[in-house]
Amino acid sequence: MFLKNIQNYFKVLWHCFIRHLWPACHLLKRIKKVCLLPISATFQTNKYTTGAHEIHVYEGEEADLHQEKVDCQKNPDHKNFIPIDQFTMLHLPEGHRDQDLYELIRAVADIAVKVDVKMVSPNRPKLWPNKKHNYPFYDFRERTVPRSGTGEVDKVIKFIGGKGFDHNGAKLQRDTASCPCEKCRDSDVPSTEWWEIHVDTAAHVVYDELEARHASCRLFYNTKQSPKVTFDKCSIHYSNVEGDWCVLSHVTCNQKVGSKMHRKFLRWVQLRDKVYNASRSWGNLAFIVSHPHGCPKQVSIGSWTDNKEVSSYKEYILSTLTYTTGTCQGSSGATIHCVGHFWDHLHSGTYHPGPNYSGTGLELRI
Ligand SMILES: [Zn+2]
Ligand SMILES: [Zn+2]
Repeated sequence: MFLKNIQNYFKVLWHCFIRHLWPACHLLKRIKKVCLLPISATFQTNKYTTGAHEIHVYEGEEADLHQEKVDCQKNPDHKNFIPIDQFTMLHLPEGHRDQDLYELIRAVADIAVKVDVKMVSPNRPKLWPNKKHNYPFYDFRERTVPRSGTGEVDKVIKFIGGKGFDHNGAKLQRDTASCPCEKCRDSDVPSTEWWEIHVDTAAHVVYDELEARHASCRLFYNTKQSPKVTFDKCSIHYSNVEGDWCVLSHVTCNQKVGSKMHRKFLRWVQLRDKVYNASRSWGNLAFIVSHPHGCPKQVSIGSWTDNKEVSSYKEYILSTLTYTTGTCQGSSGATIHCVGHFWDHLHSGTYHPGPNYSGTGLELRI
């Protein structure tokens, strides 16, 4: 009798395991497997078919682009990226080894920034405007996904007592005589001198005001040892999701940061005018300074291959570019510099096996 009871007991236990516990364990294992997928893998669905954005998603410690193994399908050896601290005139293509061009690329590097964003706006659309493929991070709305792209300073305006001038000499007036930064707003002795810094990046990097408030820009990030200079609490100055363009705005009364960036920006404008107005042909030369894989800034040099008109507006032509200039995840939002052309285009994504493509940019009708 006792033996029979024991037998029955194990029978029930076995039945229970087969019917309930085993399927439950199996399900748990499957859930774990899906949840532990590298987060970037889940964003790559459209890569190699309809083109993919190039935002870098952080999955651990920051890697060194050339020394450590960065798992990159697009540019496994990253030979087309030159760390800015190692960039010399010899990296320029033969026939283009020009001191002013070299200085110009260094000046662009000085105003390039890494754009870090953590939160994903609930307002991200399901699809790209007028397209059939998924808009980045739609499935991750209202979640925290640490990620980075690239930006470039587009304007620095110094204000004194609410009055300022931009680099074209245009007079600007703000409705406050003291610095509107958070620190000064709560201070009895707010600064009367401040700098307004505008940064261009792609709209898919910083989607809206909510993401901008949670975004930060790292300046002067040339090597791993570079001191950490960042600004956060940005706001959207301008956004065009269809053209994949966004301008972030930040206000600082930090004299050291504001005046340094102002100086660097004016230097870039001065060199651009000098090089672009020179009576020589630069061919299809196109360079980019970006932060691939969230690493310190890298220069890549290549060619623009096509400039396709989308529409026109007053004296401007709106167009999109394709180019061979190297980009990787983390390059989204970087400016494509087509030497000799006063064009403004931002890196939007890549086709496989190429080329890379921009969002809609502006060029002055000649
Ligand atoms: Zn890469
Ligand atoms: Zn202030």
